[in-house]
Amino acid sequence: MVVQRTLAIIKPDAVKRGLTGEILSRIHAAGFHIVAIRSQRLTQKDAEGFYAVHRDRPFFRDLVEFMTSGKLVVIALEADNAISKWRDTMGATDPAKAAPGTIRKDLGTSIQNNCTHGSDAPQTAAFEISYFFTASDLA
Ligand code: ATP
Ligand code: MG
Repeated sequence: MVVQRTLAIIKPDAVKRGLTGEILSRIHAAGFHIVAIRSQRLTQKDAEGFYAVHRDRPFFRDLVEFMTSGKLVVIALEADNAISKWRDTMGATDPAKAAPGTIRKDLGTSIQNNCTHGSDAPQTAAFEISYFFTASDLA
């Protein structure tokens, strides 16, 4: 077991549907510690930079539009094996393929509108956490 940090986002679809509390409850129930949390709206530039790895994918424009469509909640989470643990808590990208009891299965409505984001590796977690939080936010 290794204590890790990961970046979670409650995406605009979930915030608009009033699911922030439900998702935070699941985060606590799963045993994560919230290191930092903020509600904000992304600019187009913010969203393009955050998802730069996907810039050549056919869904990139729609994804940027979606992620800038309303407020979201960015959260730095800490736990043993936080990166895989949070991805397990979220479930597969496509809610239709996600396991029962996961956030995306229970609350997601489409492969795009899947309620949450999670970092996928230690390097991306470090990049993504620093994209939103300063060292003093994380102290
Ligand atoms: P995230 O990075 O948001 O945690 P993920 O790692 O499960 O999700 P990625 O492949 O990184 O999946 O895709 C990033 C996001 O882009 C997805 O969460 C989803 O919102 C959107 N997306 C992915 N694939 C598609 C697709 N085929 N059509 C539309 N949107 C998609
Ligand atoms: Mg991803």
